Amino acid sequence: MSTIKAQPVGSPTRDQDREWTSLEAIEVTKRYGDVAALAGFSLTVARGEIVGLVGHNGAGKTTFVEVVSGLIRPDSGVVLIDGRPPAQARGQIGISPQHIALYPPITVREHLRLFGGIAGLRRQALRTEIDDLATGLHLTGFLDRPAGVLSGGQQRRTQAAVALIHRPSLLLLDEPTAGADPETRQALLNVVKQRAGEGAAIIYTTHYLNELTDLQATIAVARRGRIIARGSSAELLEGLPGEVRVAFADEVVQVSTTDPTTALVELLKGTDRQVESVELRRPDLDDLYHSLAVTDVD
Ligand code: ATP
Repeated sequence: MSTIKAQPVGSPTRDQDREWTSLEAIEVTKRYGDVAALAGFSLTVARGEIVGLVGHNGAGKTTFVEVVSGLIRPDSGVVLIDGRPPAQARGQIGISPQHIALYPPITVREHLRLFGGIAGLRRQALRTEIDDLATGLHLTGFLDRPAGVLSGGQQRRTQAAVALIHRPSLLLLDEPTAGADPETRQALLNVVKQRAGEGAAIIYTTHYLNELTDLQATIAVARRGRIIARGSSAELLEGLPGEVRVAFADEVVQVSTTDPTTALVELLKGTDRQVESVELRRPDLDDLYHSLAVTDVD
């Protein structure tokens, strides 16, 4: 059985790190009756960093996003955004919630004007942001249509645009590509990368793990209301088994191993059987997910 690396998060950020840290959450708890949705959830995100927040259904990801955005109050713990509590940092936060939250009768352009205006954008500055997002997120064809008549994917893109319109320094994207087609997904990923490049701190929750590879995100794994592992995908995958598959003429041999190269050499050593194909599969983020399921003993 593979093990997940101990998390390096949880301790307060060192003073010298504060300048580049955008989000700092320490030991956050939130209960709903008997359910501990957050049970000591700690996570820091630096400016320009994309953190892929992953974990099984019910792990606490959305609850954490809601706490950080100030939508719900935690029972205990500390959340600071650029050194300030969420209630004082509203203008710096952009949130794309898991469930679509648009106003059906008003158009996409009106949504962007409304939310941009609330954030203080006016006239040309607002028009420029709307044009940028319309191009980047492929909204141009339906900018003047009411949100209520848009397809699911078009609504998702609109929702993301609402989160991005005021160029927030902290972006909370909760499954922003759920149900999106490949083109929609890629457009959004490109804009997310661009915003990170401009210095935004980004929390990106998803069940599509290959998106995190594309985003070159660092990964935080949530389970039962806590972060249990945090690091680059290479760090988190270290020690997980990959697979070697050798098809001989008369038999297919498949081995699960942490050292596929050595296993392959062993399989082929001294054999005089005819080899028809060889496949080496290194561990990927899906294996990380599976290892979590295996180690989830409750
Ligand atoms: P998913 O991947 O399914 O979106 P998640 O990791 O985002 O899951 P949360 O939505 O944060 O998980 O839920 C964490 C736990 O808290 C779950 O057990 C959920 O049922 C519970 N929970 C969340 N919100 C509420 C609420 N408003 N009332 C009661 N229980 C809640």
